[in-house]
Amino acid sequence: MKVIFIKYKFAEVAPVLITKMPAFDTNNNAPVSGDMKSCVVDKYGQEVDVAMVGLLIDKAKNALANSHSPYSQFKVGAALLDTKGNIHVGVNVENASYGLTICAERSAMVSAVSQGEKSFRVIAIASSSDRDEFCPPCGACRQFLVEFGDFPVIMTKNTSDEILVSSTHKLLPGSFSTDFLDFQK
Ligand SMILES: [Zn+2]
Repeated sequence: MKVIFIKYKFAEVAPVLITKMPAFDTNNNAPVSGDMKSCVVDKYGQEVDVAMVGLLIDKAKNALANSHSPYSQFKVGAALLDTKGNIHVGVNVENASYGLTICAERSAMVSAVSQGEKSFRVIAIASSSDRDEFCPPCGACRQFLVEFGDFPVIMTKNTSDEILVSSTHKLLPGSFSTDFLDFQK
């Protein structure tokens, strides 16, 4: 990951997460170099520096090679950073039954929780798609991710180094949560 471009439109998607918008050269539609220190702020208000964002994206993209997707040929990788600094990687794992397929985001989350981690800072998602669009988490994964609170979700695409930053809450407004469970009352 060499350079991460942030467009102005990201501020509309996730105004809370981006506290330091990089200076933007609207003529070239690119950030002014040297002003890219912070593009993601986690739920604790801590900056996730560009190097870490780049590392997460690299790990998500490198994981694509491990995707088990013989039916769709659509590879997805995810890299989940916990609050201890560990990175948990996941890929989509398809099944001949189709319905049992699990996505990369959930794979990463299940792996992390299996190792005792339930507090997360950010997740990055990559796919093998050649479309000039950011790969978003599916509805099931949005519900799965929001189980562990509101944290940034970084979406990528392969046609450029641009990223789209949103959050688990923003991606699934009105989600079902423990607030609705009787034992919480
Ligand atoms: Zn999914």
